[in-house]
Amino acid sequence: MNGQVFGVGMKLAARVESVSPSMTLIIDAKAKAMKAEGIDVCSFSAGEPDFNTPKHIVEAAKAALEQGKTRYGPAAGEPRLREAIAQKLQRDNGLCYGADNILVTNGGKQSIFNLMLAMIEPGDEVIIPAPFWVSYPEMVKLAEGTPVILPTTVENQFKVSPEQIRQAITPKTKLLVFNTPSNPTGMVYTPDEVRAIAQVAVESDLWILSDEIYEKILYDGAQHLSIGAASPEAYERSVVCSGFAKTYAMTGWRVGFLAGPVPLVKAATKIQGHSTSNVCTFAQYGAIAAYENSQDCVQEMLAAFAERRRYMLDALNAMPGLECPKPDGAFYMFPSIAKTGRSSLDFCSELLDQHQVATVPGAAFGADDCIRLSYATDLDTIKRGMERLEKFLHGIL
Ligand code: GLU
Repeated sequence: MNGQVFGVGMKLAARVESVSPSMTLIIDAKAKAMKAEGIDVCSFSAGEPDFNTPKHIVEAAKAALEQGKTRYGPAAGEPRLREAIAQKLQRDNGLCYGADNILVTNGGKQSIFNLMLAMIEPGDEVIIPAPFWVSYPEMVKLAEGTPVILPTTVENQFKVSPEQIRQAITPKTKLLVFNTPSNPTGMVYTPDEVRAIAQVAVESDLWILSDEIYEKILYDGAQHLSIGAASPEAYERSVVCSGFAKTYAMTGWRVGFLAGPVPLVKAATKIQGHSTSNVCTFAQYGAIAAYENSQDCVQEMLAAFAERRRYMLDALNAMPGLECPKPDGAFYMFPSIAKTGRSSLDFCSELLDQHQVATVPGAAFGADDCIRLSYATDLDTIKRGMERLEKFLHGIL
């Protein structure tokens, strides 16, 4: 049964009208709905590891439930989790944080949203290199700021240069969004490249939002440098946004965090205290187990991603009409479809409707001549999906 649909006379806020829905979530929901109807869909849509959450993490959350960790907790997060995150950032990233510098959020997504609301004033400009994750510009708009998009090219491995950032800076520029390893391209900035970008931010008095959600998903010896570790000055003006979803196959748990200067953490906590309050209490105990125990499970998932990456990259580059750069991190391929003469939206719609292969149009990431495929799915689906994609390409070229 359908509910009331018209909402007589309702005028929605302008801030919502200016924002597009999340394309990654729409396509993922469509692919899952088709599967639920019994349709054999090969889905490469959302970046969601297909693995179950490691057992010791699940057991820790179950034990927390049994122990009655089912009540409201502090809005900023369970003290032990905040401490565990601070220690992880010191140990793995060389960032000197204490528990006071940490806010536990509902996924990495809420850490970014809270930061935008806490920092952006109407008219503030936020620099976002493209291709970008779908939600960055929309969050800036929801915070009434202005996204300033910097295009990059495949020839430059989709990486923004320090000079490009320098030229985009105006008196209104407040924040740079920096994401490495990148969603959607999978590119990883080298430590030297990170230092050069940090230097621009320092010279120009910019804040840096460093989205590091894919930091552990690296291949072929690629290295991750947290931009706040580039220099003491960069540390002063960086905020890390991250979470447990991608590294520990915990997408549905919704546990992420923001790490940064205490006044910002307090401001973001205030926002969270009036919106969602604490993250699900027993889920936080699962996250504690993720950081306090062996990291072997991460290595096991990484080995599987590496195999899938090799297979998918070779398959895509052997197909007519596609060109795909080699990604060093995350679990995405971002091939160019320019030679097919189609918009990314048309390409993805036809592919899904005619061959039941779900991919995300590059337009959603600011690159209409590309599509994104997530290979965080099993090898059999990848093999079947690549066969279908090849058939589709032969049909249209
Ligand atoms: N971040 C993932 C993706 O890009 C999950 C979906 C989303 O939140 O955008 O596919």
